[in-house]
Amino acid sequence: MVIKPKIRGFICTNAHPVGCEQAVKEQIDFVKSKGTLECPKKVLVIGCSTGYGLASRITAAFGAGAKTLGVCFEKEPSEKKTATAGWYNTAAFHKFAQKEDLYCKTINGDAFSDECKKEVIDLIKSDLGEVDLVVYSLASPRRKDPKTETVYNSQLKPVGNSYTTKTFDTSKEVVHEITLDPATDDDIKNTIKVMGGEDWELWIEALNDAGVLAKDCRTTAYTYIGKELTRPIYGDATIGKAKEDLDRAAAQLNKQYSNIHLTAYVSSLKAVVTQASSAIPVMPLYISLMFKVMKDEGCHEGVIEQIYGLFDKMLFADNPSVDEVNRLRMDTVETNDAIQSKIKEKWDMVTTENFSELGDYKGYHLDFLKLFGFGFEQVDYEQDVDPVVDWS
Ligand code: NAD
Repeated sequence: MVIKPKIRGFICTNAHPVGCEQAVKEQIDFVKSKGTLECPKKVLVIGCSTGYGLASRITAAFGAGAKTLGVCFEKEPSEKKTATAGWYNTAAFHKFAQKEDLYCKTINGDAFSDECKKEVIDLIKSDLGEVDLVVYSLASPRRKDPKTETVYNSQLKPVGNSYTTKTFDTSKEVVHEITLDPATDDDIKNTIKVMGGEDWELWIEALNDAGVLAKDCRTTAYTYIGKELTRPIYGDATIGKAKEDLDRAAAQLNKQYSNIHLTAYVSSLKAVVTQASSAIPVMPLYISLMFKVMKDEGCHEGVIEQIYGLFDKMLFADNPSVDEVNRLRMDTVETNDAIQSKIKEKWDMVTTENFSELGDYKGYHLDFLKLFGFGFEQVDYEQDVDPVVDWS
């Protein structure tokens, strides 16, 4: 099959196996170029197949030689249809890890379910005994509560009043204004149910009850905080309320599992192009302008640089510097006042006509294509490739 990108709105509905392998390889090469990292050696990554979770898995495995167990929710390929990018990324990760005799197993299933938690625990018991790092990196639009079977859908809406802002329509390539209607109380509650801390707590509870959490285990969940430009649609919006619930959960985990010296952190990361962030209104515009500023300033970073920095400098440090709610902050280069005021200056001026000059949409779009294995110079996209790729 010759595979070319099929973009629908903010998503690409297919993926290229060879390109995804190249994307994984580039992240591995980055980590290896940095030398050896001090990091726990038995690592569970929940949400391991794309974005920040994949970068976490790669950093632990190829930076520290860690054994990794991953959980993801991806679609497998058929003769007629490609798999999702996360499927191909996982196959590539397994291929490279196995080449270096690094233990890796991946469960493709619904991380919110009790069955998936049980499957992971059984695997830890049989293969690893225990885990000493749990990375929680899920981004999902819905969650089925395992007890009640109710399905909750998250919403991306402002809280309080409706909000009018600029955005960039990636399919029509125009900058225009949108008005986002305010969330109802149910929207807020449902978003917290999906993207808040409850499932993270359920994972830690299940792992602890099964006796597979190592003493001194670390766990982290990821958040985005942002600043003035994104606050009305992120920090102060439904998703921000869910992220506040992660802070509550981290404090609760630290209290509840102090007997095994568990340390739980919410880690705040910078905005990057991932499948999750490209679905958020305003983000493609904000990220394009931010990329331009940070590239011009020589401080641009992607997922792998962020996670490598987090693992290297913060997550395993004895007394890392934390913010007022005990969060680790990898996002301070993006959120500092000097960078933000440069982005704001561009934001105030940006129109469809000057967008390509003021922003780095080219860079944004290339990163977007690369999420699905497209846009790599090393890959011949005219070649016939077999979409059916598996991992073991
Ligand atoms: P992503 O879409 O790239 O990755 C999501 C992962 O979750 C994938 O591995 C997917 O398979 C998995 N997943 C989704 N639903 C699942 C389910 N039901 N069961 C099992 N696995 C499931 O997202 P991302 O942007 O890397 O986000 C990861 C975390 O990082 C989120 O908490 C997000 O808020 C946070 N974060 C993202 C950004 C950003 O700019 N992208 C910035 C800061 C923090």
